[in-house]
Amino acid sequence: MTMTVTTRAGGAQPPVPADDEAPALPKRPIPGALARGARGLCPACGAGRMFSSYLKVAPFCQTCGEELYHQRADDAPPYAVIFVVGHIVVPLMVIVEELFHPALWVHLAAWLPLTLFLSLVLLPPLKGMLVALQWALHMHGFDPASPEREEPPLVAPLVAPLLAPASRTPPAP
Ligand SMILES: [Zn+2]
Repeated sequence: MTMTVTTRAGGAQPPVPADDEAPALPKRPIPGALARGARGLCPACGAGRMFSSYLKVAPFCQTCGEELYHQRADDAPPYAVIFVVGHIVVPLMVIVEELFHPALWVHLAAWLPLTLFLSLVLLPPLKGMLVALQWALHMHGFDPASPEREEPPLVAPLVAPLLAPASRTPPAP
């Protein structure tokens, strides 16, 4: 197979678009990523777990290897939880007060546990959605050209003993 290269007779090169310098980032549909993040799944493959514990984001997806340590959810999930839980609990509190005028201790016994319960239940899905949104929008280190991109965390010393081949020699008799 031969390739022929043609050049312009005048010698002037066509202008190179600036987009050619940085490769186009892959399209990542936001709704699907949000749905996977809300279920605590990797936004890329939807099979691996996003969290290694209750709220700790795993550095990598255990299924597809997606680098999740680029996330910078920071304190956004608690803000989202306050927003959502506030819009559930406060209207309920006002409605119950207007309809039944219960004693103050009834309010405390009802709304404090409900607020705590809803906050703990909603934190993981809302954090998962925020991490997935950052992933889908190529925010922070999820953009390969971003100056915020960091080296992977040092997980090798923790994983190395598990990955090492069984090269131990059996004990001498
Ligand atoms: Zn994955």
